[in-house]
Amino acid sequence: MPKRPFCPHCERPMTTCLCEALVSVDCPYRLVILQDPREARHALSSVPILVKQVRTASLWVGDVFDPAEVIGASWQTDAALVFPSTQATGAHAAKDGGITTLIFLDGTWKKATRLMHLNPWLQELPCLALQPDQPSTYRIRKSPRADGLSTIEAAVLVLNGLQSTQDFSVILPAFEKMIDYQITAMGRDTYRKNHLKAGRGGLSPQ
Ligand SMILES: [Zn+2]
Repeated sequence: MPKRPFCPHCERPMTTCLCEALVSVDCPYRLVILQDPREARHALSSVPILVKQVRTASLWVGDVFDPAEVIGASWQTDAALVFPSTQATGAHAAKDGGITTLIFLDGTWKKATRLMHLNPWLQELPCLALQPDQPSTYRIRKSPRADGLSTIEAAVLVLNGLQSTQDFSVILPAFEKMIDYQITAMGRDTYRKNHLKAGRGGLSPQ
């Protein structure tokens, strides 16, 4: 069987090409996304779309990471971890310029917790917690992050919270388009049956 043609720019099948929706934005923070190798194989990860659109974002796939390699020699003072935590200590430092790098753990709560255990240095970092006031548009996957957001949504929320001069939600339409393609592919009836729970999910009937 011939291979499906892929778009060389967004690296997706031509039939679900996202190029038209992709934008390219600068960001005052470096975004470092750490991803569990099993998460990397997930076709619906939001991370490739995040990395393609934010020029300062980089993806690292693995189990154990060297902070000096992924952040730099002064990682202990430069970076904050975006993670649901009751002790959100990083917001002030991130706003006044002390923090230059934001670390995101991609994947489900279970995988993110696993990365925390495998990389104890993460627990030394100040933490930026998320308090989403809107339900996620991440309507497909059944086990989202503990904060209920996809990684791209978490990035937009935290960046918009830190920065008033730039609206990072311009990177979301490409993500929403990817989800729409997926819903169309599985059929709306199947989607409704399996993924819409009472009181949750933002899809209005056709
Ligand atoms: Zn494309």
